Amino acid sequence: MPERTASLSLPQRPDATPQTARRIIGKGRVEGAQGARSLYIHMPFCAHKCHYCDFYSIVDQQDRQEPFTRRLERELLALAPAAGSLRTIFVGGGTPSMLRVPLWQDVLQTLRMGFDVSQLAEFTVECNPESISSPLVDTLVRGGVTRISMGAQSFNHHHLKTLDRRHDPANVERGLAMVRAAGIRRTNVDLIFAVPGQSMQDWHDDLKRALDLGTEHISAYSLTYEPKTELTARLARGEFSPCDEDLEADMLESTIDVLRSSGFERYEVSNFAKPGEECRHNLAYWRQEEWLAAGPAASAHVRGHRYKNTPRLDDYLAIDDEGFAPIVDHEGPDPKRALTELLMTGVRIREGVDVARVASAAGEIGVDVFDAVKRSANALTRQGLMKADEAKWAPTPKGMSMADHMAVELMRAMEST
Ligand code: SF4
Repeated sequence: MPERTASLSLPQRPDATPQTARRIIGKGRVEGAQGARSLYIHMPFCAHKCHYCDFYSIVDQQDRQEPFTRRLERELLALAPAAGSLRTIFVGGGTPSMLRVPLWQDVLQTLRMGFDVSQLAEFTVECNPESISSPLVDTLVRGGVTRISMGAQSFNHHHLKTLDRRHDPANVERGLAMVRAAGIRRTNVDLIFAVPGQSMQDWHDDLKRALDLGTEHISAYSLTYEPKTELTARLARGEFSPCDEDLEADMLESTIDVLRSSGFERYEVSNFAKPGEECRHNLAYWRQEEWLAAGPAASAHVRGHRYKNTPRLDDYLAIDDEGFAPIVDHEGPDPKRALTELLMTGVRIREGVDVARVASAAGEIGVDVFDAVKRSANALTRQGLMKADEAKWAPTPKGMSMADHMAVELMRAMEST
């Protein structure tokens, strides 16, 4: 279960012809800091498909782990010349902890061989409580992993059943104990609230259980009914009622209070961390930095391009363009899109967005764009939603809960010129 990032609802332009990442990445090696400094790897295997999930994953039959690993190694080596000295690596899924230990050893060795990891500040792997094991954790530690993100979602058997999550909550504690015993200090616990039938007390119990585990990072997402998921189909069949909207809003406000009183800061709309324990990899996304991506359905942002690897494992295995993967949803460099993304994610993170970057991106669109957006930022500041100074435009605590509204206002200003 991925530690999610903010999704951008941008129009997708289908490509006229299929292409692979080679055309974007090229084959020349870039030097040092010039290359992308973050790398995302997607491992698609899961034990089963949870009812609420719309991430790309397939039910693991054990037969495709080896071909996937060999293909991933080739892709990583193809991407490596485009990487600078990596700062962050994040392995998500799917369920990365389902990959067999010897295959994990191969992946970790490929990373060490292909990439400069001498300045690696964070290496996160997502694990599920039912598939984490001591041999795996020991392998991850030896391979340089520094952070584990645990897909707990809830500690309540009934709510886990509603979500069709099949792990025993006791295994979250067991898994994190393994992680600590192996010497990994940094952890995240993923939680979901606004589950049908969940009361405020149930949610407080979940938060307390997570805090009692001693984690220093919690991702707390309200349950969303994604199209084409079994949960959405069950809702349509009237099998349950969704959480009341007021209760959902109260749960979010309560989350902020409970976690704040335990020393956590809300540094992104759905992410809370003790000072210095923010997820550096996800911050790279939200700051609109560059990252490379490997594995099926992995999304990249590199040299102004956005694209996604094919979301089908069969295509990923079959199409191998000198190691590069076939891609979908490619969008080339576009100043308007760049500014949109900068503003949309900037209003979701506590640190906000650099005004100089906004000015530079706006300047590429037109002479009046920055002034228009600045007027909007000042209006949001007067409404108490934003704190705009010469260097940063950052959401206030109230504004962070109205990030979508702020994004709409800023977009409207951008479009008005
Ligand atoms: S564990 Fe469940 S929620 Fe997580 S990626 Fe797999 S199917 Fe989706």
